Amino acid sequence: MNKNLIIAIDGPSGAGKSTLGRMLARALNLLYIDTGSMYRAVALAVMESSLSAKDDVAVGALAGRVDIDLEGDPDSLRVTLEGRDVSDEIRSEEVTEMSSIISTIPAVRRAMVERQRELGQRGAVLNGRDIGTVVFPDAHVKFFLTALPNERAERRFHEDRTQNPNVDFEETFADMKERDRRDSTRADSPLKSADDAILVDSTGLSIDEVFETMMSVVQGKSGVRPPS
Ligand code: C5P
Repeated sequence: MNKNLIIAIDGPSGAGKSTLGRMLARALNLLYIDTGSMYRAVALAVMESSLSAKDDVAVGALAGRVDIDLEGDPDSLRVTLEGRDVSDEIRSEEVTEMSSIISTIPAVRRAMVERQRELGQRGAVLNGRDIGTVVFPDAHVKFFLTALPNERAERRFHEDRTQNPNVDFEETFADMKERDRRDSTRADSPLKSADDAILVDSTGLSIDEVFETMMSVVQGKSGVRPPS
């Protein structure tokens, strides 16, 4: 019933895109594609190579030839790079920083967009920064999910603290702001809301409240109901 339904969720980091993307995909029995994890996998490939992140041509070529895949259902999504499971490695601070840098390179974006279209063509919930504007401009439902910067940084901080008890809130906040700035000001596919996206502000709301809101938008726009 939900075949070919494309749901785009864009927004800055810490807005809840991953959690809500997963929940929607599960409820609607759709594939879940976390496009950020693909840029992270390219970043890891660059870090493991002898390339400089400043060498746009070489990094772009690498992004075009590495094999990146997403496997598993929304709750246990694994990311592979050349067949190797890198799901945990791509969450490190170094990879987070590097992914923000290499995602400004147009050839990297072209390679990822092509792969994302391939993966999503038969219906998916995709989250990222440019899904509704570039990857699937004809998506059936587009969300721009955001929250106040302080709250987004708080969420990131609590997540990061489970891995590293020494993280510092001010540092988390400053790093997040810098990545947001890079995402929003890059020349190619900057982070912005598509004209026809539904703006959802998750500030002060529980995940379940945001989920209910998004689900009713999906039902209203596409007529689909969760499989019973
Ligand atoms: O979403 P996540 O934080 O995992 O993404 C990692 C980085 O990849 C982001 O900081 C952003 O710069 C980049 N990205 C992007 N376009 C997307 C998804 C992620 O530029 N569609």
